[in-house]
Amino acid sequence: MSGASRDRMKLAADLVSRGATMLAEPCPDDGGIQVRYRGKVYCTSHDDLSAITKARSVSYDTVVAQMREVLLARLNETAAALGTERDPAKQDQLVSLASKYFDLLQKLPQK
Ligand SMILES: [Zn+2]
Repeated sequence: MSGASRDRMKLAADLVSRGATMLAEPCPDDGGIQVRYRGKVYCTSHDDLSAITKARSVSYDTVVAQMREVLLARLNETAAALGTERDPAKQDQLVSLASKYFDLLQKLPQK
């Protein structure tokens, strides 16, 4: 196997890890490995795949970790605001907000 085709294999595997499906049929034009991604078929040999690889360079785990941090920070702020808020209507808003943050936190996959 040449270095170039090894790179193609690596690229195809990388795309699969981003949610693409490797197709059994090779590209009819050049025999390259084909993958299906979000309903479109791409050839790893002749199609420009940079759109896929760039657009999805963030991993799910990274987003989850970031989301958890943001939610915790917001929950903390909301709790602090609730502690000093005297208006019942605003307290109600804050409690509802905190409840949503909390729900979302619970839905995140636990490490
Ligand atoms: Zn092709």
